[in-house]
Amino acid sequence: MAAAFSFASTSPKNSPTPISSPLFLPPSSHSISLPLPLPSPLSLSTSTAAATVSLRIRCIDAAQPFDYESQLRYQHLKSKSLKIAILGFGNYGQFLAKAFSRQGHTVIAHSRTDYSAAAAALGVRFYSNPHDLCESHPEVVLLCTSILSSEKVLQSFPFQRLKRNTLFVDVLSVKEFAKTIMLKYLPVEFDVLCTHPMFGPESGKHSWAGLPFVYDKVRIGNSEDRISKCEKFLDIFSREGCRMVEMSCAEHDRHAAGSQFVTHAMGRVLEKFGLESSPINTKGYETLLNLVGNTSGDSFELFYGLFLCNPNAMEQLERLDMAFEAIRKELFGKLHQVYRKQLFGDLEGGQVESFRIQKMLVNGASGKLPPSETSSEDGSSA
Ligand code: NAP
Repeated sequence: MAAAFSFASTSPKNSPTPISSPLFLPPSSHSISLPLPLPSPLSLSTSTAAATVSLRIRCIDAAQPFDYESQLRYQHLKSKSLKIAILGFGNYGQFLAKAFSRQGHTVIAHSRTDYSAAAAALGVRFYSNPHDLCESHPEVVLLCTSILSSEKVLQSFPFQRLKRNTLFVDVLSVKEFAKTIMLKYLPVEFDVLCTHPMFGPESGKHSWAGLPFVYDKVRIGNSEDRISKCEKFLDIFSREGCRMVEMSCAEHDRHAAGSQFVTHAMGRVLEKFGLESSPINTKGYETLLNLVGNTSGDSFELFYGLFLCNPNAMEQLERLDMAFEAIRKELFGKLHQVYRKQLFGDLEGGQVESFRIQKMLVNGASGKLPPSETSSEDGSSA
């Protein structure tokens, strides 16, 4: 909406250059300077001279909330935004809340610990009582509690206070388990979306671009609003640039045990081992340090949940153990060969060594044999 402006009424009677016609400013102008003749203090009595003052219009289109454009913009944003309730506002819940708020969604949260201050800092409304949270009728409820506590949380959650078309989403790192407990405890009217953002506060610190986001639409109703709500939620991650991967929960768990669980296990082994940075770190060593950094921030409960609730994890742990044992055998096997050769196989070398020792005993250190007589190719007498 362009502003129509007339200066006719403000120009003095004897103005040398009166501006009388309405002035239409181009919509693209944000600021425009106009020479406006104003009477000097003297001119008030003499009316002879006018001083020229430069006026600047800084804004020509300050849309008001009641303007049509504002209403349209509000409707558009509202149609895109969701009211999301996060259950479990620990490390990961807060990490996700940041992105949700940044994208303009309304975020509310509940946790057994009082996170009011942390929530306020993120623009999130915190409810200590889950009944109050439900009564504010979120469209999406996001289960972000630890794997091992999730079943207990669902068992005691006041679902009856939520709307019947609520979309329930989880971000648990094990998917078959999450799907099973959600289908077991959630009312049948609720939609169920199982997801796993395959990144955390460390790996997704700067950006989520290119990072995998796995999801399985376990139970989404046919109606347009239910489908669109689910798409709007998934769109949060697409907009951040995630690589969206639709996959069944079972398939996710098979892949995740071989990748994610092994990553966490190795990170924890190396942490226990006590890796330390040195002034001559190689690139490979830096990778190991990064691995420890990436996994050490996660709670042990998370790691334990990955182990306990992914049926494939035990097999992977055993494979890791076997692989470690195989490497140890390979190394010790080689060492054993050399040792045997020294003891039994390399008689000539052994004779030379005993001869050298005898000579040293008789003549002291000067009784060394020439190098040609002492060295053998495998270094057994070096
Ligand atoms: P976590 O240790 O797995 O979970 C911590 C959360 O669980 C906190 O909100 C905590 O609430 C809640 N909790 C723990 N025990 C509880 C109980 N007995 N009753 C009620 N709530 C309980 O650490 P996290 O990193 O925040 O992970 C949260 C979820 O996100 C997990 O399911 C995890 O698999 C998933 N996830 C994590 C990552 C990651 O990189 N960290 C990535 C993808 C998915 P209080 O703080 O109030 O005690």
